[in-house]
Amino acid sequence: MPEQTLSKDYVTRVLTTVDAPDGPTAGQDLVTAGILQWISACDGYASVRLSLPEAGDAPADQTAMVHLAGEADRAIRAAARRDGIAVNDLRFIFVDHSGNIVFRAGKGPDDPDAAPAGAESGQDHALPQRGAQQQPNRPPDRPQATANALPGVKKIVAVGAGKGGVGKSSVAVNLAVGLARAGHAVGLLDGDIYGPSLPTMLGLDSHEQAVMDGKLVPHAVHGVKAVTIGKLVEPEKPLIWRGPMAHGAFQQLTTRTAWGELDYLVIDLPPGTGDIVLTMAQSLQLTGAVVVCTPQKVAQDDAVRAARMFQQLGVEVLGVVENMSYFVGDDGKEYDIFGRGGAEAMAQRLGLPFLGSVPINTSLRENSDTGDPTRNFEEATAGGAQLPVALGRLVQNLESQVALASLRSGGRTPSLTIS
Ligand code: ADP
Repeated sequence: MPEQTLSKDYVTRVLTTVDAPDGPTAGQDLVTAGILQWISACDGYASVRLSLPEAGDAPADQTAMVHLAGEADRAIRAAARRDGIAVNDLRFIFVDHSGNIVFRAGKGPDDPDAAPAGAESGQDHALPQRGAQQQPNRPPDRPQATANALPGVKKIVAVGAGKGGVGKSSVAVNLAVGLARAGHAVGLLDGDIYGPSLPTMLGLDSHEQAVMDGKLVPHAVHGVKAVTIGKLVEPEKPLIWRGPMAHGAFQQLTTRTAWGELDYLVIDLPPGTGDIVLTMAQSLQLTGAVVVCTPQKVAQDDAVRAARMFQQLGVEVLGVVENMSYFVGDDGKEYDIFGRGGAEAMAQRLGLPFLGSVPINTSLRENSDTGDPTRNFEEATAGGAQLPVALGRLVQNLESQVALASLRSGGRTPSLTIS
């Protein structure tokens, strides 16, 4: 049975049929030669990162990169045509041994300015010059940025929900821990300043908030650097903020924290469509937002509002997560309690990527209450394989969507100004 999507595995398999260029890796294929570095694939889009062997300090040979991108492009498109798989956009990024991008090639149907990686006719087209950036393919109405980037932070992903109690904080925590387990440097900001959950969910009870050179030192737990207002106020005292105070608190947590170098900063937003979200969108360059939803119709309606709000603010929705999708009983059967698939259908209706579903899982709740999310990723402490597999899939899909969002914005993070 041929696969029906342009997946990471599919592209990898095709690239095992493409020969490495002449030189130290001659006679091998792109995968065994170690030339293939990384693939991000989703919804007919694929971005393939390659690195050619370098001789000493000599720069990689552009002709070889042009040729190789053409060969790989032809092989992937031919295999996909044979297997009836749609290819909307295929990009090749060459990096040097330090990971710096030295060359890009590739083209999607919506990108008339970009040069193709290799035509079906077999000719190599004129490709962008070494180091040249492609024209960003940004949504036309996205306002120009005055929002600030956080120095050293590469991607900022906000996690929101239409209403409380759907598992937004749980998803934010597990995405952050999952991204860290996948090898990224990750920060986690508890932006839910009215009802911070991170002190409990990350087990911060015995942690003191340290300050150094006037900046908050994040708590290093479960592989992530976390900051929460919950460690700056009395635990059971209600947090009653007037609008400007709430904005100030959010801003200070964000900008007055010594995050250091981060691949991802995950922000757990307050539920709903309130003004903290506006503040965030105005003040930070976001890569995009994730919307968490349970399957029921009433939850969907709120999630649609949240997704529309992000879009109105010019923030790309990276995808929808269906939490509490189904329940796995002791008999191993899956019980559909809330109407499994409802959030997925909603995502499809809105034309948004679906990042995956998380089952109702007693261990997840227990691990949240005991502040040990790492256990959600280990079969023995997650009540079986379902939860680790579901979370792993979410993390991978988010990585893909983030990579695609960066591609669509020409490598720049989207941002916005509101007046
Ligand atoms: P929100 O941030 O949307 O208010 P939380 O993440 O705080 O929601 O989750 C609310 C409660 O539901 C928490 O006790 C959490 O442990 C639990 N919970 C969330 N998702 C699941 C799940 N998939 N399975 C079991 N319990 C869950």
